[in-house]
Order: sequence, then C-alpha cells, then structure tokens
Amino acid sequence: MNDDEQRQNAADVQDPEAEPQPSGTPVLGDVLLAIEELWPQSLSEPWDAVGPVVGRTSAEVRRVLFAVDPTAEVIDEALAWQADLLVTHHPLLLKPVNSVAASHFKGEAVHRLIEGGCALVTVHTNGDSAVGGVSDVLADAMGLQDVKPLAPADKGLPEEGIGRVGELAEATTLGDFAATVFSMLPAVAGGVKVAGDRNGLVRTVAVCGGAGDSLFDAVRAAQADVYVTADLRHHPASEAREGAVDGRPYLIDVSHFGSEWLWLPPAAEALDNVLRDQGYDVEVSVSGINTDPWDFILTPG
Ligand SMILES: [Zn+2]
Repeated sequence: MNDDEQRQNAADVQDPEAEPQPSGTPVLGDVLLAIEELWPQSLSEPWDAVGPVVGRTSAEVRRVLFAVDPTAEVIDEALAWQADLLVTHHPLLLKPVNSVAASHFKGEAVHRLIEGGCALVTVHTNGDSAVGGVSDVLADAMGLQDVKPLAPADKGLPEEGIGRVGELAEATTLGDFAATVFSMLPAVAGGVKVAGDRNGLVRTVAVCGGAGDSLFDAVRAAQADVYVTADLRHHPASEAREGAVDGRPYLIDVSHFGSEWLWLPPAAEALDNVLRDQGYDVEVSVSGINTDPWDFILTPG
C-alpha cells in the first residue's frame, strides 16, 4: 500500500464530525507554517531579513528546491525544474530597496521568479541558530559530541544559537582534522586554509558555518583547540593568532558557500518530513550548483 492509499484508508475511518485533515498539495501558506515550525523567525538576528520574498500564500507548492544563494544560475535551475518554491539560505534582498526594476540583477531575479511562478523564501540566521541548523550539521559531520552553541540565542532553547562547540571522540592532529574537514565539504577553488602547527593535537572544536569572525571571544571562552569557520579576514585572524595560548585556537578557514551547503540536504529532508506528517505531498530537491564566487587560485610552489 502506498502512502496515498494509506492516507485514503485513514480518511475513510475518520469521525465525520472531525476537522478535515489536509491532504495532497499544500499552498505556500502551509509551507511557510512548516518553515516557521522548523526555523522560527524569532531566532533570526536583528539585522537579518528572513521569510517570504516572492510568492502568493494561496499558490500551490509541488516542488521545493533548496540552495545557498539565489543567483541567476540557481533561479535557472529552479525554473527549469518547475519548482514552485525556492528556499535559499542567503537573502536576495538583505537591505531595503526602492525598486525591483528588472534593469538591476536583483529586480531581474524577482521578475523571473514571479513570471516563472516560483516563490522565494529565505531561511538565514534562523536556520543557523535552530536545532539541526547549519553549525549543528557541521558539528555532526565532524563527529563532535556534547555540542553546545558558541553564542546561545537570546530568545530560544539552550541548544539554539550561533556556532557550536563540542569534543572529538579522540584527539587528533590539526593536519588530520583539517583533512577531514576538507573531505566533508563540497569541492571549491579556494580549498581550505589552516593556521597552526600541523602536528598539534586538537580535541575541542568550535565551528560556525558562514562568516564567524565575530565569535572569537566565545571561541576563546570555550577553550577550543581549533576554530572552523569561513571568511576569516586578515585582522581578526592575525590578532587571534597573536593572542593564541599555546598556539590555540588553531584556525581552519573554509568556503562560506561550502560550510552552508552541507545544511541543505538535512534541511530539505526536515521540511519534507514536517509536510508529510501533515498529510502533504511535495517533492524536495537540493541544488548542486556551486555558488562559491571564486574560480581558481594560485599558490606558491
Ligand atoms: Zn552565509
């Protein structure tokens, strides 16, 4: 018996007085409720812009594509697949705008999505902070245990917040740990950069998907041996190395895109599960397009 038949049989024996249960295809409004359940907007940072960007709440949603960035290429992919909803981690319109004229690439994106019948929803810092969020997925992939937030959420559960810190089951060298991090992330031109003694031992690991150089105080307070994040700028990185105690925390600088891409498959699965539990049927997929902006790198030697 397939899922539809099971649901149909269950519906046949329902109390006729009971509220009708949803079944079949959800509308965007239903999907937004499921998104809110998984990644509440209250967990987003005050400067962020999360939630629906394009779309009518009454529009049916059959196909949902997840991606890190709402780039033109990702929108091509969403429209070619006839997605009704594109969920991206990064906002298309983080700053307020006065125009969505198609003469600007952001307005063009808005036009193409509307004309193609595809809604756009942002799940950004709410997706970072939530349980099962971006840094939780990274911590999981690294095999960390006793994982806690680096910066706990103001209005959330103790497990919610930005970044995570946890312990490896066994101490390992920085070189081997960096190789593990490299192998678990999607391949990007910039690879992975490491600061510290290749043979130094690491056990306590701090991690923050995306740009995490504002969290150094929390990384030091957690006495992390190594900090894995993206977009480490010269001054915060240099000063963290100058202020290191016994060489620690070592630094591993990964691709911003790569560190967040890893979250997409479990996020898509989580949304699918919530909608399925509510009797809805959608097809979810994850974009395979590499939206890391760098194309090649020159290194000495
Ligand atoms: Zn990001």
